[in-house]
Amino acid sequence: MTKTHKILMLAGDGIGPEVMGEVSRVIKWLGENRSLNFDVTDALVGGCSYDKYGVPLTDETLQLARDADAVMLGAVGGPKWADVSYDKRPEAGLLKLRKELNLFANLRPALCFEPLVGASSLKPELVSGLDIMIVRELTGGVYFGEPRGIEILPNGERKGVNTQVYTTSEIHRAAHVAFNLAGKRDGRVMSVEKCNVMESGLLWREEAEVIGKEYPQIKLDHMLADNCAMQLVKNPKQFDVILTDNLFGDILSDIAAMLTGSLGMLPSASLGGENDGAMYEPIHGSAPDIAGQNIANPIASILSFAMALRYTFDLPDETLLIENAVNNVLAEGLRTADIMQENKATISTSAMGDAIIHAMEKISS
Ligand code: NAD
Repeated sequence: MTKTHKILMLAGDGIGPEVMGEVSRVIKWLGENRSLNFDVTDALVGGCSYDKYGVPLTDETLQLARDADAVMLGAVGGPKWADVSYDKRPEAGLLKLRKELNLFANLRPALCFEPLVGASSLKPELVSGLDIMIVRELTGGVYFGEPRGIEILPNGERKGVNTQVYTTSEIHRAAHVAFNLAGKRDGRVMSVEKCNVMESGLLWREEAEVIGKEYPQIKLDHMLADNCAMQLVKNPKQFDVILTDNLFGDILSDIAAMLTGSLGMLPSASLGGENDGAMYEPIHGSAPDIAGQNIANPIASILSFAMALRYTFDLPDETLLIENAVNNVLAEGLRTADIMQENKATISTSAMGDAIIHAMEKISS
């Protein structure tokens, strides 16, 4: 019997339902044409869940996420919920999902599709062929460390405190993800911290070395985070896998993202351990400025689903089918407005979905 792949679709707010609608069509096509058995459930997260249930993530939806092999998330948030208390904001639903599913490793590829080389702010020769994977530790570090807060000192001054803290096990599990990925890629890991000024950075470097010894076939190097930021815009193709902490990963992955052109092109995966969940989502937000107009780019979401096929469902042929279809559509000159270039044709969200499915059919025939 064909294995069932359980997917929870959380389209969310703003352009979420539009771009995830195209993902659903790709899933349906694969089910019908590749004898794959996808069991898809839809549920609410974010502002739409708050509107209906008074919370951005219900316990029932969380349980559905736990039961799924992969969660596909669109985007959450928007000005409509700007006055809602922080614990009920759409973003709180997303953070809870990441925490409860124990998603400690965030994978962000920065891949430059050849037809879009001209859309980068860097020179074409610097980004042509670019293929970097950033592994960002997602559940530790300064965003979660205690003590934290704003206090008033005896002299009346205010003091803001956040604590950068990492334990060996937190570093080890993120490092394993990076080394395993490097084994499927070019075999190189660049571990990034600031060990010159931070003890937690020194620990990061030493523990990355410990795990590196378990992967003798992978080349491990180290770089300070400020230098890495500079190198990403100077010579980005020197990197294969970058392994870094939550704070530096947040910043470096946004720099790497812009090397490739548009937010609308960039997928991501958040993974836990073997028995934990996995969540796949475009890196962009809910884009309220263009929501409901059928003009959003669905490629980041479709490529996020391709990542699910690769990392959760272990279907490399279908992953490549989607990635090649996206490349072919771009090579034909079809563009949504956000990636528009001179002499190309602007098409809608649904027309981009049509074109990608058509390209998948063409490659398969
Ligand atoms: P955004 O990513 O939603 O939009 C930034 C700009 O990029 C906008 O001009 C938007 O139109 C454009 N854009 C984004 N995705 C696009 C796509 N697929 N196709 C074409 N254009 C696209 O960021 P923002 O405006 O800062 O945030 C809007 C809302 O989204 C906020 O409420 C924010 O909190 C939320 N947000 C959610 C997530 C998430 O769900 N993971 C991530 C970031 C922001």
